[in-house]
Amino acid sequence: MFEKQKVIAIDGPSASGKGTVASRVAAALGFDYLDSGALYRLTALYAQKENVEWTDEADVAKLAENLPAEFAGQKVLLNGEDVSGQIRSETVGMGASAVAQLPKVRTALLQRQRDFLTDKGLVADGRDIGSVIFPDAALKVFLTASAQVRAERRAKQIGLPCEGVEFYRILSDIEVRDEADRRRAVAPLQQLPDAQLLDTTDLGIEESVKKVLDWYSKV
Ligand code: C5P
Repeated sequence: MFEKQKVIAIDGPSASGKGTVASRVAAALGFDYLDSGALYRLTALYAQKENVEWTDEADVAKLAENLPAEFAGQKVLLNGEDVSGQIRSETVGMGASAVAQLPKVRTALLQRQRDFLTDKGLVADGRDIGSVIFPDAALKVFLTASAQVRAERRAKQIGLPCEGVEFYRILSDIEVRDEADRRRAVAPLQQLPDAQLLDTTDLGIEESVKKVLDWYSKV
């Protein structure tokens, strides 16, 4: 039996590859996977669709409390509509970062995240998984990479060259969002003293997954 929760918490900055690593680790262990960022992205998109300002704490929190979201395999649905593509836009990413600074919104989404844990076990990625959502996680990982490498990965993902105006916009968006996530008063992005550091600047996906599985086998 586990004394700690059967959870692997993977926190880190945007575009660090934590989603890919987390979902593969989950598949390897037969655990469920929670992309907590998707909940903040869905909240921002929902607010946009309902014409609620991202800074309107009370109204955004109400939307977050009753978020009509479903995760169906790789698809993310909002009110039954497939919004998997829409939630990945940089604009919605910025909106997610904005609504994530509102304490009432974080509270509204807290239990929803905890509910993803079943007997199967859970790999969850985000910014405050190890600090707030699952502080008793069996393994905590802080997964990061240099901003340049993260911007290059994001550019490749969307088919853009790693140079030019568009690329520098991606790099600058990443840096702005990182800064906001680190500096905010509630649940800031941080490397916890009990988290393993996984710097993937020079590390491939397979090696990263292997490293996490190796740490987990030793807890
Ligand atoms: O991980 P992702 O880039 O999808 O997250 C979008 C935004 O949601 C982040 O920039 C962050 O501000 C917020 N977030 C958060 N806490 C989490 C997950 C995401 O504040 N656990």
